[in-house]
Amino acid sequence: MITDSRPAILSIHAEPDRPFFGEGNIGNADRWHGFEASVRHVQTLREKVGDAFRVHWLIRLDPQVAEIYGAAEWAFDQYGKAIEELLAAGDHFGLHVHTNRLEYPGRGWILNVDDHNWQSHCISSAHDAFNACFGYEPKSIAIGANIISQPLVDMVTGLGFQYDMTTIARTPEMSFNPHLHADGGQPDFSAIDQLPYRASIEDFRTPGDGPLWILPTSSVPAQPADNQLGGKAGTAEDEQTYERFRMRKGSAGIGSAVRKMEADGVTPFLHFACRSNFFNQMDAAQNLEAIVKSCLERDFRFVPADEAVAHYETVSVPDRIAALAD
Ligand SMILES: [Zn+2]
Repeated sequence: MITDSRPAILSIHAEPDRPFFGEGNIGNADRWHGFEASVRHVQTLREKVGDAFRVHWLIRLDPQVAEIYGAAEWAFDQYGKAIEELLAAGDHFGLHVHTNRLEYPGRGWILNVDDHNWQSHCISSAHDAFNACFGYEPKSIAIGANIISQPLVDMVTGLGFQYDMTTIARTPEMSFNPHLHADGGQPDFSAIDQLPYRASIEDFRTPGDGPLWILPTSSVPAQPADNQLGGKAGTAEDEQTYERFRMRKGSAGIGSAVRKMEADGVTPFLHFACRSNFFNQMDAAQNLEAIVKSCLERDFRFVPADEAVAHYETVSVPDRIAALAD
């Protein structure tokens, strides 16, 4: 479906309030208060702005959830009624997968970046849990801590996923903060621009004609000492670096991002992503409302991934590469 309005996506990662890393969190299962608050805020805002605001939820059903909560399907069992209401309002659900692995003896959870066998297990078991809960296969995925690689792209494509929502436009390779206990870093996304594209089969960072769409999270020029996850940016100091759009900053930066895309002659695209624990913050509802209203004023509609990519399906690959080459 192609409409005149511009596509925006709000993807909310439905997950526990705190990430579980290192020691001390094992067996410490708590309700997902942030997710509960996010549902309330989304429904309240929808009553104000109507169906131009639909959300793309990505829910965790992975082995770490299974270990800590006793079942991968815990959130679906706990929040089934809320999920049903969101779906009835036109929202979409896909999968959010963390690849954390419990390390013995006594090391607690590590963020697994390099073990593709373990990552494959996390993704395929979460895929199966989603299927068991929702009754259909998930079509979209975002991998925790923005870890994606060509082997994982091949794997999710093989499982039938059509939309990857893991990458962050223009952001360089980064090391993770030590408290994440990671065995690697965030991949280099500096070649990925702000627009959705079909990934080439050989390299997901390059537009092509493969079956998987990449829907990068929007980014803005980074402020000094305010980069992703507190890590160290990998580019030279004199180059402009970018960071994920921060929802806690409200609508700041949206206008200039849109003007840039208008100047490039492309249909502007915005993708805001956040963890559900964002909604535990006092001013979350206010920031969400500012972002959504700012976008609606600029002729955006918030839609799920499948409707967003329809705007870009008709652009030829050479044209897209030319537009992205800037
Ligand atoms: Zn997450």
